[in-house]
Amino acid sequence: MKRASPRLLALLIGLTGSLHAHVIGDASHDASARLFAREFAPVRVALYRHAAADRLEGGGGGSHSPLLAMFGRFAPAVRVRTEGDVLLIESNGLPAHGMMVGITAWQQQVPLPQPYTGDNAWRIPLHPRPSSNPVSIKDRFLRGAIALAANGVPIFNPQNNRGEISAEIGELDQWGGHCGRADDYHYHAAPLHLQAVLGERLPIAYALDGYAIYGLNEPDGSAPQGLDAFNGHETPALGYHYHASLKYPYVNGGFRGVVVERDGQVDPQPRAQGVRPALTGLRGAKITAFEGTPGATPSKLTYTVNGNPASISYTAEAGRAWKFHFVAADGTVRDETYRAGGGGKGGGKKKDGGKRE
Ligand SMILES: [Zn+2]
Ligand SMILES: [Zn+2]
Repeated sequence: MKRASPRLLALLIGLTGSLHAHVIGDASHDASARLFAREFAPVRVALYRHAAADRLEGGGGGSHSPLLAMFGRFAPAVRVRTEGDVLLIESNGLPAHGMMVGITAWQQQVPLPQPYTGDNAWRIPLHPRPSSNPVSIKDRFLRGAIALAANGVPIFNPQNNRGEISAEIGELDQWGGHCGRADDYHYHAAPLHLQAVLGERLPIAYALDGYAIYGLNEPDGSAPQGLDAFNGHETPALGYHYHASLKYPYVNGGFRGVVVERDGQVDPQPRAQGVRPALTGLRGAKITAFEGTPGATPSKLTYTVNGNPASISYTAEAGRAWKFHFVAADGTVRDETYRAGGGGKGGGKKKDGGKRE
């Protein structure tokens, strides 16, 4: 496979950096950027389409072109930089689409922005290496992410950390996601809806071993042939890559490439950071609506318990605090303020076990 020339790669990374330099590491700008992304998503996509990425995508720019073009479509919410042979991807882990609606098996978590930045960024190898011992994800890698979607939202194992298939037990919203113990939003299925932004020629995600995950079809629209047990195969045009599927495993069913497994997850990977204690399942709950952009605007999750209405409203406060207002299904009202660092950790840290994430 051809590689992008270092000069071309530097140009693309440089372009990304110069376009969005004002956003990186600036919390107030991040908040407005998120608001902007939510309110004007179609405009944003048009504005931030990278000319260089488009050239690479269309012009045979080498093996990195789909990787960079894919994340480029979600700039400035998703930002990339290189560090040696690794692409670092920064995001707050929140999508521009709706969240949480339709969930019937719910751990009472809500979406909060996550600091997937700096040393806590996502890492994708630029030069994936086939493993001499490819490993399945079945009943393994049940913690943390196995892939990263184009919009900077992590994709977890289709099995939750108790081994159940999340998509089959009401845990997921209409977009294939939900929130973990650190109020960290993530998918447990293939986010094929991202093709509305990406088109069908680009991958929808990259597995953490560095191989791309394409949609249900090849970029030319034909059906994939000869997929292996991991939903992957090798083609002359793309080399080794995975495909999404509408049933298990939904994404990559294992890692064809080299990954390091530590404490039941791919290592290293970012840590989600909670601000409030992890909670338990709420029997009879059904999430009916979600409004707002967490971190940028007041947000409200509305649900019912056995048909009785309830809600959680929350707002970011100064000093990395969050003010919550709970209206329970029995009419009880409660206010709480949580501060960053006060809650359970997500993906990157050992759990006390037994809970969904
Ligand atoms: Zn294929
Ligand atoms: Zn989960």
